[in-house]
Amino acid sequence: MKIEQNKSLKSLNTFGIDVAAKYFTEIRSVEEFKELRGDRRFSGEEKLILGGGSNILLTKDFDGWVIRNAIPGGTITSETETEVILRAGAGVEWNDLVFGCIEKNYGGLENLSLIPGLVGAAPIQNIGAYGAELKDTFHELEAIDLRSGAPVKFNAGDCAFGYRDSVFKHKFQGQFLINSVSFRLAKLSAPKVHYHFRVEYGDVRETLGEMNVQDLSLKAVSDAICRIRRAKLPDPKELRNAGSFFKNPAVSLTQFKVLASQHSKVPHYPQEDGTVKIPAGWFVEQCGWKGKRAGRVGSHKTQALVLVNYGGATGQEILEFSEIISRSVKKRFGIELSREVNVV
Ligand SMILES: Cc1cc2nc3c(=O)[nH]c(=O)nc-3n(C[C@H](O)[C@H](O)[C@H](O)COP(=O)(O)OP(=O)(O)OC[C@H]3O[C@@H](n4cnc5c(N)ncnc54)[C@H](O)[C@@H]3O)c2cc1C
Repeated sequence: MKIEQNKSLKSLNTFGIDVAAKYFTEIRSVEEFKELRGDRRFSGEEKLILGGGSNILLTKDFDGWVIRNAIPGGTITSETETEVILRAGAGVEWNDLVFGCIEKNYGGLENLSLIPGLVGAAPIQNIGAYGAELKDTFHELEAIDLRSGAPVKFNAGDCAFGYRDSVFKHKFQGQFLINSVSFRLAKLSAPKVHYHFRVEYGDVRETLGEMNVQDLSLKAVSDAICRIRRAKLPDPKELRNAGSFFKNPAVSLTQFKVLASQHSKVPHYPQEDGTVKIPAGWFVEQCGWKGKRAGRVGSHKTQALVLVNYGGATGQEILEFSEIISRSVKKRFGIELSREVNVV
């Protein structure tokens, strides 16, 4: 295990922010983490677990340990006639897992195709896209308490998943290193499985039509979603970004009615709890930020919610730009936007 000091994190976060970590290491097994705990420099320092760096905004040098989780592997831990429980190492690329499952005809993750990042970070914000969320297939996760070194298992209830949310963003923020995540997936090859493909969301059905898909399959749904995502979202390798910067706010029905009386075309999604979800990008766009650039940062020209580093921006510049946007949304609509990206 290599330990580096004053390590630049520029290539390790999709915003491309150039800050340094006092100590940096990559772990490939739980044993390596145990070894790391034995290092005399380990205790008493702050710790940050890093995956693919695609949901993080680094605003300053990190005065402690940045531990990149690279634990590999994938195993079927149990199976029935119709289902498998698949355990994946936290360091596996999320999309490699999704494509691997599609190849084996295991259903459940296909709507989450092409989400950047690693498996270990997926439960942190209960990643979601195109009508599916991680929690739909989540079985359990294994983690290590960073303070005591004790192994802990979390089931879905323990994780308290919500919309882009979990217990790891609140009560247990920064407290655990997730080392594996297990999923319950449908075996589509089994004769008794009647699988429900989720194609109702957004442009999925329409795109499947354009692709001339006659019979639905995991691959077809995934291909359609990849096609939509590639057309819509800027590739962080070409234009530095961390996907949606803000979460979509849920407003009360009364608030929604007031808004709709002034803006008849406001996009909206009624929720089971009676609230109404409105795309944060719509508010950002209404306030005139779509495609706007301020120096080295800006809002993307087709995806207002995606903030972009045009090159050389600091995390602080991006944070300040995001705060100007939130303040203007608050002033005009009275809506408080909350961040999806983790600010460090
Ligand atoms: C172009 C683009 C599109 C995106 N689209 C979507 C989307 O459709 N849906 C969606 O939900 N998200 C989306 N995202 C956000 C992002 O891809 C996900 O949140 C992803 O799960 C982050 O993974 P990561 O490995 O990069 O995490 P990081 O950015 O490295 O870390 C995110 C947080 O998780 C913590 N963490 C990471 N790994 C571990 C671990 N093993 N144990 C404990 N804590 C850990 C970190 O400390 C940090 O707080 C998008 C991002 C981009 C750039």
